[in-house]
Amino acid sequence: MVPEKAQAIVVRTYAYSETSCITTVFTREYGKLRALAKGAWRPKNAFDSALDLLSICQVLVLRRSSGGLDLLTEAALERRFRVGRSLAGFHGGMYLAELLDALTAEADPQPEMFDAVETALTSLSPDADADASQSAAVVVLAAELALLQAGGHGPAVGRCGACGERLDPAARTAFGMLDGGALCPSCRRGKRGLVSISTSATSALRAAAALAVGRRAGPVAVEGRVLGELRAVMNTFVSHTLGRRLRSAQHLTNG
Ligand SMILES: [Zn+2]
Repeated sequence: MVPEKAQAIVVRTYAYSETSCITTVFTREYGKLRALAKGAWRPKNAFDSALDLLSICQVLVLRRSSGGLDLLTEAALERRFRVGRSLAGFHGGMYLAELLDALTAEADPQPEMFDAVETALTSLSPDADADASQSAAVVVLAAELALLQAGGHGPAVGRCGACGERLDPAARTAFGMLDGGALCPSCRRGKRGLVSISTSATSALRAAAALAVGRRAGPVAVEGRVLGELRAVMNTFVSHTLGRRLRSAQHLTNG
């Protein structure tokens, strides 16, 4: 067997023995893989300290054909997730890793999801070359919308999620947690699980959705109050979509 090369984001790592770990990496080429990294925690190892949480790295992996753990034979760091003083960036990165893990099955390649998270992690790292003028909360929101979209769970934003009718951008939006997002006045009748989103939050959500699909460039400026409103909406929407709350969602901030 020949190891295969892949670009990976480290989404989870836990101890397997004193010197080895099991890591969940999301690769661009093969999707999510769970792999044993033998000797990763020895002082001299083949992993270049690349297996820290949220690192982006190149890995060599021996794929198991039948269910079991893959074997990670080498890793080389491309970019470490540097949080510096930004706690919002750190929690945002953790949240995106948990969401990515929750939305994907093993060995199911989703290059769009990979790209969305890689881009977000790059701009959440304070000393990155990337544009740092975008607030962590907006970066997280845009990446989360991109992930949901790629997974087939993206909420309707500018059009009614039920009939497709274009919605008035200057009005409050009725957002159906159980009905795929925004709803027009006739489709919202009799629906349960609706929240009414303010006009500022409606326009911020549209802007973040446009950022998510690359239809506009940042930065998008959104007030903390509005971000708080959107965060509450998205936390509930994601919980409904996944059938459970993500642990890291409670740490997300509006900054
Ligand atoms: Zn409708």
